[in-house]
Amino acid sequence: MSKVLIIGAGGVGRVVAHKCAMQPNVFSGICLASRTQSKCDAIASEIDREVYTAAVDADNVAETTALLNDYQPELVINVALPYQDLTIMDACLEAGVHYLDTANYEPRDEAKFEYHWQWAYQDRFEKAGFMALLGCGFDPGVTNIFTAHAKKHHFDRIDTLDIIDCNAGDHGKHFATNFNPEINIREVTANGRYWQNGQWVETEPLSIHRKFDFPEGIGPKDMYLMYHEEMESLSKHLPEIQRMRFWMTFSEQYLTHLKVLENVGMTRIDPVNYQGQEIVPLQFLKAVLPDPGSLGETTKGRTCIGCVLDGVQNKQRKHYYIYNICDHEQCFEEVKSQAISYTTGVPAMIGAMMMLTGKWTGTGVFNVEQFNSDPFMDALNQHGLPWKEAILDGKPEALVD
Ligand code: NDP
Repeated sequence: MSKVLIIGAGGVGRVVAHKCAMQPNVFSGICLASRTQSKCDAIASEIDREVYTAAVDADNVAETTALLNDYQPELVINVALPYQDLTIMDACLEAGVHYLDTANYEPRDEAKFEYHWQWAYQDRFEKAGFMALLGCGFDPGVTNIFTAHAKKHHFDRIDTLDIIDCNAGDHGKHFATNFNPEINIREVTANGRYWQNGQWVETEPLSIHRKFDFPEGIGPKDMYLMYHEEMESLSKHLPEIQRMRFWMTFSEQYLTHLKVLENVGMTRIDPVNYQGQEIVPLQFLKAVLPDPGSLGETTKGRTCIGCVLDGVQNKQRKHYYIYNICDHEQCFEEVKSQAISYTTGVPAMIGAMMMLTGKWTGTGVFNVEQFNSDPFMDALNQHGLPWKEAILDGKPEALVD
């Protein structure tokens, strides 16, 4: 029985608050804090259990530490933005609290997705006797755990890994992003990168694409090679994997809008002077785009996120696919959110549950693939993200070099 503090009352924060509230035996007390307290209050009012709320500027270590000292949680679930990761980790060390997040730290002025800033906290968390669990959403998060599960139960050696993220949903808007638009567009417009024979190979943004035939009636969709942060930790913890790639599907409509926005300079992250005031075009764009948290009501269709692995078991070559399919409308019915926030928030709750129930223990900074995947995989089936696995006859055509 433990108290938890959730920071960030956005799309993902809503799901984490709802799902933690459904597990009173694990989360005895819940506090939801964000920059804007009214957003926390709105979420708390949807939940049939007491959820405390607070205003906090998580960029401010002293303010965040004061809230931690006041509420005294066992664990902070950070689902604010990646910019706040380090300040929240600092506050956790000050107050003596465990930490969990779903996205790695990014400096505001450069779209870089790297763990080194957070891995550098290893000694401090270890010495203080607390755990920081990084990247416990779906991707990163469940995709890392799927890989660990594959290694444990299906392979003696993994040679290649393709992580494939498909959102086959439709929100009915001309252009909207499924999670925070600023973070999403920074990610999509960055150079692609994949891991091959111990080094990174860099590609132009969205320059490599293939058509993958998704299971259970979702059908063929265009997917694009991108860089994604779980490859950094997986290449460290499973160095045997010779090649790792990450793919995401995009509709033609999304890409056309994005290209135009890029061409006219609206995705820039450097400040420009407008009528005597400095504004960052991408931040302004965020202000006029639909709030991802509001898309739940109109989004229909399903997501399909998973991993295709190739390797050897008992001296035999093996091709293996593991995935989850999640229905946007069912998520909305359950927790008033679309499937992208749902598939991120549920693993964050499960990761917190692993830590608070002692299934995953340790002091220092960890990525999820470092722990036993079995209890997490069982929990996915119990808490709304059931997974399926299939042994394939060969490598899917879209993934052949
Ligand atoms: P939103 O933009 O919907 O929500 C973010 C929330 O963080 C907002 O409510 C905002 O506060 C709050 N916030 C921002 N700055 C501060 C601050 N300085 N202090 C306190 N609160 C702050 O984003 P999402 O919910 O879509 O995403 C949340 C996180 O989840 C992001 O880090 C994102 O990268 C990550 N993510 C991870 C995925 C994965 O699979 N691993 C997939 C999708 C998202 P307010 O509104 O109160 O001003």
